[in-house]
Amino acid sequence: MLDLAAPGIRAHKPDKLRQLGIMSLNGMFDEMDGVGVLRQAVTELLPGDVAIVSSFGADSSVLLHMVSEVDKDLPVYFLETGKHFPETLEYVETLKQRLGLTNVIALHPDAKDIERFDPKGNLWETDPDSCCHIRKTEPLEATVKGFGGWITGRKRFQTSERGVLPHFELTSDDRIKVNPLAYFSDADITTYKLKYGLPEHPLYSRGYKSIGCAPCTSVVAEGEDPRAGRWRGLNKKECGIHFDFNGAIAKPMAEQELNLWKDGKFIADPFHPWVEGDDPASVRYTHIPLPVFLERRDAVLANPHPVGLLVSPGDNVELVKGDLDRFSSIAINFPAFGDGRGYSSARLIVERYGYKGEVRAVGDVLHDQVSHMRRCGMTAFVVKHEPTRKALEDGKLATVDIFYQPVGLTEIPLGTRPFLRRAVENA
Ligand code: SF4
Repeated sequence: MLDLAAPGIRAHKPDKLRQLGIMSLNGMFDEMDGVGVLRQAVTELLPGDVAIVSSFGADSSVLLHMVSEVDKDLPVYFLETGKHFPETLEYVETLKQRLGLTNVIALHPDAKDIERFDPKGNLWETDPDSCCHIRKTEPLEATVKGFGGWITGRKRFQTSERGVLPHFELTSDDRIKVNPLAYFSDADITTYKLKYGLPEHPLYSRGYKSIGCAPCTSVVAEGEDPRAGRWRGLNKKECGIHFDFNGAIAKPMAEQELNLWKDGKFIADPFHPWVEGDDPASVRYTHIPLPVFLERRDAVLANPHPVGLLVSPGDNVELVKGDLDRFSSIAINFPAFGDGRGYSSARLIVERYGYKGEVRAVGDVLHDQVSHMRRCGMTAFVVKHEPTRKALEDGKLATVDIFYQPVGLTEIPLGTRPFLRRAVENA
């Protein structure tokens, strides 16, 4: 047996040997039917270390029926985005009861993210990628970390992008994705449902062939790609949670895309860089340079999307102090290691003007600076420098214990300024 799930191995990036292991698995179980692949994953490959993610959509009953055949207590995660059709929520209950599933768990988006990025609930309309990110990707990522693998209901026939989907995939964070239905055709799904008398999703008979969130799902015409009704009219076919393959299927979520260090981990950054010519009235998830904001203040304030502010050396933050709450994030630009003006800007923003949102460092962010950046109020770091990435991942940051120039109200000055230390100690 290939020991792909051995403890400790998961901490490493996928290497060639493990990718070869996955290829061998695919070779060994290529001919196996869906239940066999699922049983293999659940009982042999990843016992107690695998979860299922189900959309409870049009075809979900097939995979969930297989799960009920193998182990009714397996964790089944349902992304409760808050945007589902009421019929989907009913269907969750119907399938739970019909199949005897005992461990269906709803994953909700973080309420603070919703309040901050989608207070009106219409982000799907203006920025569906970000909407999927906060409603699906982030809640799922946090959960998936607890498992060595997860099982999906994806099938080759669904889109051309999924046309070479294998049974087993190795993700870039060294987990295994299992796709028991990879080789199922549309006809196989229908036959399976009939064979086991599985209940249909209530919307299926009304022309919904692939069912996700209500605002992003429409009826599919005869002969159309079954997923054509998802995000119709947009160049979007996936919600992002499946963008993490071994390179064979779709665009992998590249390591460098997880370049925002926040709350002790690297995450995908929802913000895009400002590009010359961008319109401050309509950009979203972009840090608008401070001089552009001053020039187009009214347009930015009327912009309905989440936006940030980019502060570069020489920018006068006092000019925007009354507008800071408009921004979801403030980026302090450090264009060169030797330029420390960003520290003062951050302190003004946080300490003097009381800004409570994300303050991030961008530009030349290096290992040695991070500790001081934190002291000045920065809570997130866009990291491009590989040794800095490694130091953060390994928890090996340089720390500062003796402050020649204390910041904030809590640091006690040492060394050459004992009179200041006494003042703080006595305060
Ligand atoms: S499918 Fe639509 S509503 Fe659902 S999370 Fe994605 S963009 Fe938002």
